[in-house]
Amino acid sequence: MALQIIAPCVNCWACVEVCPNQAIFEALPHFLVDEAKCTECLGDEAEPQCAAICPIEAAIVNELGEALNPYGSLTGIPMGKLIQLGIIRSAL
Ligand code: SF4
Ligand code: SF4
Repeated sequence: MALQIIAPCVNCWACVEVCPNQAIFEALPHFLVDEAKCTECLGDEAEPQCAAICPIEAAIVNELGEALNPYGSLTGIPMGKLIQLGIIRSAL
């Protein structure tokens, strides 16, 4: 059970300090989660702290590939508009 950081991540460092398990580390092209350390914050916090602080939509996903901050959830820009403009190809 672990979250993953994927391509929309902009390597901003915001999530690194809030992780209770030091599971997030610097990497290229984007930061990564050590799956052996990530507990999804269960037992430590009410919600995954990385996703709570991440300013980028769809940068953090669960084991099903579902974004914890889906497109439109932070910016309010409708997903259909993002697809129409070619910013994303499809919903996560
Ligand atoms: S879900 Fe919690 S334990 Fe897992 S990487 Fe994010 S902050 Fe760390
Ligand atoms: S807070 Fe989000 S964008 Fe910033 S490093 Fe973490 S996953 Fe990447």
